[in-house]
Amino acid sequence: REKSTVPPPAKYGGRHTVTLIPGDGIGPELLNHVRELFRFSCVPVDFEVVNVSSSTEDDINNAITAIRRNGVALKGNIETLHTLPASHKSRNNLLRTSLDLYANVMHCKSLPGVQTRHDNIDIMIIRENTEGEYSSLEHESVAGVVECLKIITRTNSLRIAEYAFKLAREKGRKRVTAVHKANIMKLGDGLFLQCCREVAAGYPDISFDAMIVDNTTMQLVSKPQQFDVMVMPNLYGNVVSNVCAGLVGGPGLVPGANYGRDYAVFETATRNTGKSIADKNIANPTAMLLASCMMLDHLKLFDYATMIRNAVLSTMNETRLHTVDIGGQGTTSEVVQAIMRNIQSKGPLTSEL
Ligand code: ADP
Ligand code: MG
Repeated sequence: REKSTVPPPAKYGGRHTVTLIPGDGIGPELLNHVRELFRFSCVPVDFEVVNVSSSTEDDINNAITAIRRNGVALKGNIETLHTLPASHKSRNNLLRTSLDLYANVMHCKSLPGVQTRHDNIDIMIIRENTEGEYSSLEHESVAGVVECLKIITRTNSLRIAEYAFKLAREKGRKRVTAVHKANIMKLGDGLFLQCCREVAAGYPDISFDAMIVDNTTMQLVSKPQQFDVMVMPNLYGNVVSNVCAGLVGGPGLVPGANYGRDYAVFETATRNTGKSIADKNIANPTAMLLASCMMLDHLKLFDYATMIRNAVLSTMNETRLHTVDIGGQGTTSEVVQAIMRNIQSKGPLTSEL
């Protein structure tokens, strides 16, 4: 069975080095706020900044090398223009596949301070992150006919299913739902589903069911509380995670993580660039700040993670501080300053010193 990612041990006097990829759009400003907050909170993490632009392949290779060295990264999204030639692979995708970050994990939970149509949502989405529809294998076999290949392998389906069930058990969850379209893609999604069933047999304490992706999206927007842990191939994971982010208040709120055997990369769950709202001090910093907390948990800096997470969540309860995306008028920096005041009011951390 796959072991979960082992975080790198701290070096140099108990400090960790983490690769920081600012990315495009709102990435740089949000990550500056993370750095500011970490400094303020005396978090024992140093960042190695690697800038990646989509023009040359050198930059992304530098970023990948830095992550191999440090083991952990926090990143903004790197813009991928769809006008680029088919040979141009998304830098984000290249990074995930090169490092074999096979499990994308998103925990979508209703926030008490944010008004939404549905309450009490608590869903964990486990998305296969390296193959499926994201294999970048497209060609025009004859003029006017394009073949775009979706790759489903037994090995990768088993390991993502195993990851989902293992996480479900660790987190005390009751049920795993596999999302598929095996009625149409009988071989591809059929194999994915079959692998999930096989893994489920080894987890008698967790119930397993399967749901077709179209019904899933309909059920999600009408009765999202029915879902517990969900596991699915790459593209359904992209769609379902965006639906779920929308359900709990939008892309500015939910963090995401990409785990492989050796490395872990943290970012916002829906991986938005947010180009149109960049450099305006209006982006919601919550998703990126919570992603940095997931990263601190991964580094086993649990007390720092909890301290910052609690401050972020209690600041969300102050409606007057909400950013525009969730119906308020607060600015990004006002939110971050309120979070710092909250941390200061609790006094310094002592247990980890
Ligand atoms: P774009 O196509 O401009 O890059 P995205 O696809 O990145 O936009 O994001 C989708 C939508 O979500 C946009 O309206 C964007 O403004 C919004 N959005 C994404 N991230 C955030 C955030 N952190 N705070 C507020 N709004 C956000
Ligand atoms: Mg987009």
